[in-house]
This record gives sequence, structure tokens and C-alpha cells, in this order.
Amino acid sequence: MSNTIFDLERARRETPGCEQVFHFNNAGASLMPQPVINTVLSHLELEAQMGGYEAEDAAQAAVEQFYASVASLLGGRPEEIAFIENATRAWDMAFYAIPFRPGDRILTAQAEYASNYIAFLQVAQRTGAVVEAIPNDERGQLSIPALANMLDKRVKLIAMTHVPTNGGLVNPAAKVGRLARQAGVLYLLDACQSVGQMPINVAEIGCDMLSATGRKFLRGPRGTGFLYVRRDLIEQLEPPLLDLHAARWAARDRYEIRPDARRFETWERNFAAKLGLGAAVRYALDWGLGAIWARIEPLANRLRERLEQLPGVKVHDLGAVRCGIVTFTVEGRQPEALRQALRGRRINVSTSTIFSTRLDMESRRLTELVRASLHYYNSEAEVDRFCIALAELLKDG
Ligand SMILES: *Cc1c(COP(=O)(O)O)cnc(C)c1O
Repeated sequence: MSNTIFDLERARRETPGCEQVFHFNNAGASLMPQPVINTVLSHLELEAQMGGYEAEDAAQAAVEQFYASVASLLGGRPEEIAFIENATRAWDMAFYAIPFRPGDRILTAQAEYASNYIAFLQVAQRTGAVVEAIPNDERGQLSIPALANMLDKRVKLIAMTHVPTNGGLVNPAAKVGRLARQAGVLYLLDACQSVGQMPINVAEIGCDMLSATGRKFLRGPRGTGFLYVRRDLIEQLEPPLLDLHAARWAARDRYEIRPDARRFETWERNFAAKLGLGAAVRYALDWGLGAIWARIEPLANRLRERLEQLPGVKVHDLGAVRCGIVTFTVEGRQPEALRQALRGRRINVSTSTIFSTRLDMESRRLTELVRASLHYYNSEAEVDRFCIALAELLKDG
């Protein structure tokens, strides 16, 4: 927690999009801050002026700095970080590297993300492993006692989404980590919606692998993400796909895989975007993740309180700790129609459907939600005006 007053004025001044829209879609893609925009544009310019390979050479130190920046964001080491084009592929590269055998158990959470669950199902079909969802506790977060009861020698992996795509829930990642370590079970954390929003430390959480995306709460460019893999584990995980960057063609009949986390990367990447993500990480570190979280949490709670006061509006966020993702439904209204109507008033929200988080949505008898996700640069005034705009919309019919 930071004791200093948050410089909202600076945050908004450095976010050009703030002048155009009320952006409550930070769980989709945040507005980029000016230093990120500048970094991306200037590298593209450099590529145009001198050639793509030559621009890469010229920016080599900054390209390399990406790893140190992400490592300091997560409390890891640079050699434990891979740059990957999105969080899904980052997660896949770790997950599909794990050798499963018939009867191996994969434990996951109720709010697991669809792409991850689809991968569980595919691997279960291929290998005979089984996937099981850990029950929630009475607050709607993953139940630690239930997980403790499920752990046995057959559990190969705990793969959990930290903050789901469809709500304010923050799953108890560090408590899961403690159990995973005691049991000697691999632990893969999907931190897509938590990285950039709150302090994340891989040692405190105790995860072996962590995936995240650049464009959400980190405020980086689209088409960026990264993977963290704990150092001792890297060389035990053979990536499901290799190329000449991940491995070296050492002899006609032999290749050698790199010893660091870059074995999960491919050679070709969008350098402007990678540099932009590095800039976004440094920008977040400059604000301080503690200060960011201390601003987001009460701002989102303010939105929840105001929404609850509107007739017919129901807030659906679960968990003991609730983050910047605020989800709600309005009686008699389709979430998608509301999204479009708000868009007409220059207010960006998104919707979240059962196809992203089926287990959770089915158990709560939900099919679609409006998702208003706040960042530190959103203002109290925007929150209040958002609720006025929504009330007007509902009155107009
Ligand atoms: C957005 C999201 C992903 C996918 O991230 P991409 O960068 O789009 O691949 C994965 N997990 C969760 C929980 C997400 O919210």
C-alpha cells in the first residue's frame, strides 16, 4: 500500500485515450500510456528507415531489457522469462510440455478460462489424464480445504486462473501454492487478469509456471504476452514446438534445446510490440503495483456500490477479495444490447459469456454478463457518470 496520494491527473494526462472515451474495458485491452505508444511507434519508424533486422540490432539493449523488466515485475530472474505473442500460447507452451500419463489428475478451478479447459479436455482425450474442478468455498473462491482433500499421488498439475475473465474474484493463489509445494505438484497460474492490476510475486505465490498477456492491466500493445517458468523446472520441460531459436541444430541428426525459458519462444516476433510491452512493464513498476492495486480496489468497490443502488441491476462478483473487474446484469436487458448502447455514449464495456467460463457460469445459472473493468487511470467522476448514463439508458427503455 502506498501512503502517497495517487497522481490521477498525471495518469490521465499520460493516457491520450482518456480524452476520447470512458474506457471501462481494461480486462479486454487497456488504453496504452504515452510512453508505450512512443516506444512502439519509434521502433516501427526505425524499421521503416533502416530495415527490420538492422533496427533489431540497433535496439538490442532495449530488446534484452525486456526480460529483466518482466523478471522484476514478477520477482523472478531474466532467464525464467519468455516473450510470447499472447497469453494463450504462453500457457499452452507450458501446459503441453508436461508429460501426462493415464490416470494423472489435473486439478483446476471453477472459474477456469475456456481455452485452458479446452486444452485439458484435449490432453485428457489424448493421454488418459483426468481433469477435475476444485470446489469453491462459501465466498465463491477456490476452497483451500477442498483442494487439500483432493491432493494425492496421482495429481500431476494444479492449473488455476488467478483472476477470471468474468468477474472480480481473486483466487487465493499463494495458499494454493503452499499446498502445491507441500505435495510436490506442478502449479501453473494463469495470471492474465491479475498481472498489472496487483502485486504478483512468483516466490510468494509459489507457482512453477505463470502466463500473462500484455494488453490487459499491463497496458501494453495487443499481440504480446509472456511466460515465466521456474529455473529448476525449465530443463525438465520440453516445449511442444521447437524452432531454430528454441533449439540449435547441432548435428545432422541432433538438436540441443536452449537451457533458459526462451526455449518456449519462436525466433520471429513483433519487436515493436515486444519493446512496447517492456515499456509498459516499466511504466507499471514506476507507478508501483502496490499503489496501482490500492487505487483499483476501492474504485471498483465504489462502482459496485453505485450499481447495486440502481433498480434491476445485480452485481455478480464473487470472492473475499474483489478486483477491478465488475460484472452485472440488468433485469430484462441483454448484456450485449447494453454494451452497444453504452458504446453509443462513448463508454466502453464488454460482455462475458458462458463460452469463456462455462463451469462457473453454469453453476450460477448465468449465460452472459456486462463487464466493466476499471484501471487506476479511471476516475471517480467517470464511475459516477457511468452509473448516471446507465440509469438514463434504463429509463429510456
Ligand atoms: C484474456 C485471458 C486469456 C487469454 O489471453 P490472450 O492474450 O488473449 O491469449 C487467458 N486467461 C484469462 C483468464 C484471460 O482473461
